[in-house]
Amino acid sequence: MSLYHSPLYKDALAQLELASEAMGADPNIIERLKYPKRAIQVSVPIRLDDGTVKTFEAFRVQHNITLGPGKGGIRFHPDVDLSETTALAMLMTFKCALVGLPLGGAKGGIRVNPSELSRQELQALTRRYATEIGPFVGPDKDIPAPDIGTDAQTMAWFMDTYSQINGYAAHGVVTGKPISVGGSLGRAAATGRGVAYCVNFAYDRMGKKIDTNTTVAIHGFGKVGTPAAEDLSAQGAKIVAVSDVSGAIYNESGLDVPAAIDWVKSGKVLKDLPGAKLISNDELLALDVDILIPAAIDGVVTSKNMETVRASLIAEGANGPLTKEAITYLSDKGVFIIPDILCNAGGVIVSYFEWVQGLANFFWDEDEVNKKLHRILKEAFDDVMSKHTKYKVDMKKAAMIAALAKLEAAMKLRGLFPG
Ligand code: GLU
Repeated sequence: MSLYHSPLYKDALAQLELASEAMGADPNIIERLKYPKRAIQVSVPIRLDDGTVKTFEAFRVQHNITLGPGKGGIRFHPDVDLSETTALAMLMTFKCALVGLPLGGAKGGIRVNPSELSRQELQALTRRYATEIGPFVGPDKDIPAPDIGTDAQTMAWFMDTYSQINGYAAHGVVTGKPISVGGSLGRAAATGRGVAYCVNFAYDRMGKKIDTNTTVAIHGFGKVGTPAAEDLSAQGAKIVAVSDVSGAIYNESGLDVPAAIDWVKSGKVLKDLPGAKLISNDELLALDVDILIPAAIDGVVTSKNMETVRASLIAEGANGPLTKEAITYLSDKGVFIIPDILCNAGGVIVSYFEWVQGLANFFWDEDEVNKKLHRILKEAFDDVMSKHTKYKVDMKKAAMIAALAKLEAAMKLRGLFPG
């Protein structure tokens, strides 16, 4: 299977080329950025609870490490493949560059449906994967983190496996760890909190204020959507719809967000929430709301359904939830789009804080984490807005231009080895 077949990779490449044209980037730099530095495929055999052995395909792709060690999550999902992982690694390169982190871009994943495995099987899967990619990761090389289908427990198993192999407690090898094994306060909520910060920055620019009349629909009520819902509803906004794999729930006067969170935390799905009015995920995306937050997965708003979207602000909480066509169409219609590499960068920013705290063995309080997160995101947001105005391009291209400008400068200074 080719590295380059996935829609997400083709989209990322097209965005890169369009941004590069608009800013007049050096073609030699773009030529390098089209390809990952290193793409690793490993096989992960584990013994299932019934005694049989099953092998899973797994990957780690390091797209670019000019600015620092590779950084990016590990995804456990049945659609994971080398091409999608490469696209996501490329997005991480631009995300880290955009927000000014001294980190490169990487991503990993296992082609698996984690909900079909027991806890013991998941632990075996994570530990064997960590062993297989172990030689290529490390606090100075490449630092994984959670993504779809993985969490703090996964990171604790990964960190433990790497530490067992190396003979010391290596806190810096992964981020998104539980607090008790070197995690950072504020990391779990950071991606969603960053989405809420960006929504506020955008609202300021639009001359609007979040209040009790503000309506929000959130596609995906997981690690990103949940804290975003909490923060925006704490500001008074009405979260009128949220969704998960079972479907979407809707209440035009605003859902009871804490009740929905408790429900999901207890392991139940949204469609079974008592009193919930069920709608489909497509209906959620087409709701007449002020703010739409696609926070689940890529390719959710496409040329097929983009005409149904009615929100005036879209915050890309997931990676690549809007296709290139949808971004162009909705931007032309005047919809304010906060692009993924800016909107969901809160996660990797606090991952960076976690890595720094772990290396220094000195930990910060949550207030400090959130203040620093806010400052970094605000600077990046302003940078994207200024590129949007200067180059007269949509916000997605503006974000790519802002990221590319930083990467291009660093890549030129370091030069091409061996020259
Ligand atoms: N998986 C998250 C992302 O896509 C977080 C990555 C990280 O913290 O390294 O940005």
